[in-house]
Amino acid sequence: MAVPFRRTSKTRKRMRRTHFKLGVPGLVTCPHCGALIPAHTVCPKCGYYKGEKVIGPVEEASTAPKAKATKGKKKAGDKKVAETSTVAEEKAE
Ligand SMILES: [Zn+2]
Repeated sequence: MAVPFRRTSKTRKRMRRTHFKLGVPGLVTCPHCGALIPAHTVCPKCGYYKGEKVIGPVEEASTAPKAKATKGKKKAGDKKVAETSTVAEEKAE
């Protein structure tokens, strides 16, 4: 088995380790939503790549809240209906 001829000095070890450092990832801003994303990747927030919507789960997620929103709107609409009915009653009076 090969054995190092000479012990690595503290200076040599520390000079070698000056290059052990974290690199900066190549992040770019998404042209659609402005989020910081890795370059050449589909934006995980809006699902866009090169100006086109590529991945669909975001759409499905957006449709689900829309359904919830419509439910909320229905409730709001009911309230509005109630409000309008009260207004109509007030007008009738
Ligand atoms: Zn985006």
